Amino acid sequence: MTEPMLALHAATKTYHDGLPVHALRETDLVINEGDYITVTGASGSGKSTLLNLLGLLDVPTTGAYHVLGTPVNELGEVYRGAVRGQVFGFIFQNFHLLAGRSALENVEMGMLYGPYGRRDRRRMAWSTVERLGLAHRAHADPRMMSGGERQRVAVARAVAGRPRVLFCDEPTGNLDSANTANVLEALRQLNTDGLTVVVVTHDPVVAAEGRRRIEVADGTVVERDQVA
Ligand code: ADP
Ligand code: MG
Repeated sequence: MTEPMLALHAATKTYHDGLPVHALRETDLVINEGDYITVTGASGSGKSTLLNLLGLLDVPTTGAYHVLGTPVNELGEVYRGAVRGQVFGFIFQNFHLLAGRSALENVEMGMLYGPYGRRDRRRMAWSTVERLGLAHRAHADPRMMSGGERQRVAVARAVAGRPRVLFCDEPTGNLDSANTANVLEALRQLNTDGLTVVVVTHDPVVAAEGRRRIEVADGTVVERDQVA
């Protein structure tokens, strides 16, 4: 038996904002390599909290978290940072690209905290930019790009270092339907090639892409359905 890619065991997250906010109630969740999971739920239901725990951007208040069988919540921030930088990729609603740098440079910078040297970073950035259909925009400044192009650059930056899991929080929240379709096509292709994909979204079109669909309601995670 191989270890699951990610596994939360009785994990909770409580924020203390005056009164305690139970952002995530006791959750068991196993994510396997190659899964494509979409996460929906009302605003404030706990979607980003769940994604942040899975992405090691935050720590559970109680419970355990294992990445490829390793109990990462017991390990220090240096190790957690290494997992974040080498095993995980992230994309967010607002792209977070650096203006004044080309698309290619943005993609290269995504690998600064990984194990690759300069020449490898350049080579891997190029091949990823090409793979995402952005070769003709490689030297353009993100400010001159459409929203859909920017988000594909962000996807390229997230995956160029060959992570095992890609976490996306509202990746199409700022895109029109044509650009959403382009980003979804890129995610689908990456998943077909073996990348594990976890997408938080409020868009039913995006949610329908998941082969596993999870709903978060008031901090409780419910698995809705699995599509064969
Ligand atoms: P979603 O992404 O589904 O909109 P979040 O996971 O961001 O929801 O938030 C879940 C709940 O936790 C909300 O009630 C939110 O106000 C609260 N929350 C999130 N982050 C913090 C924080 N840093 N401090 C206090 N409360 C927070
Ligand atoms: Mg959110």
